[in-house]
Amino acid sequence: MIFEVYPVGVFAANCYIIGCEKTKEGFIVDPGGDCEGILNLCKTLGIEKIKYILLTHGHGDHIAAVSDLRKETGAKVLISEKDKYLIEGETVNVLPILKDIKLFSADDYLKDGDVIEISDIKVEVLETPGHTPGGLSFKINNFVLTGDALFKGSVGRTDFPLSSREDIVKGIKSKIMVLPDETIIYPGHGPSTTVGYERKYNPFL
Ligand SMILES: [Zn+2]
Repeated sequence: MIFEVYPVGVFAANCYIIGCEKTKEGFIVDPGGDCEGILNLCKTLGIEKIKYILLTHGHGDHIAAVSDLRKETGAKVLISEKDKYLIEGETVNVLPILKDIKLFSADDYLKDGDVIEISDIKVEVLETPGHTPGGLSFKINNFVLTGDALFKGSVGRTDFPLSSREDIVKGIKSKIMVLPDETIIYPGHGPSTTVGYERKYNPFL
């Protein structure tokens, strides 16, 4: 499997580029900026067809390059319907520094238990709300992309409108912490970690 982390934008949001070595098909998670850089990196990695843009949530620092990237690739944009209000306008009010980003609508919506298949890669959708109402994590084999729900030693901010501290902890405990200790966590910002490490050291859980 092709797998690359590419921090983008003013908040260094982790954009993930994942693909199949055999078919050269891939998908992008959270393109928060630098459409050109993402496309160049895909080329370098050998990904020829980007089929999906998957969004962990609708905050501007995770979605700023979606509109351009979709135009360039024809990829389908998928997000939770509960974060529709963010991609269609509200994210600009939440993060005013990103007021110039191009807004867009999703091609389809994801919910807990959905599985997206890209060649032989299976992406399982886990609902981990609280940072935003529609927060999603994506499980692939033995790793999980957790967006801004779970970070190394921390959890996402819950001081935004419609955020919930109770929900974020509940979601992480019921969807992420039930996975084996060796499961690797790739968050929306900062370094990777594991379920076992967070079980031991994360003071919020
Ligand atoms: Zn966020």
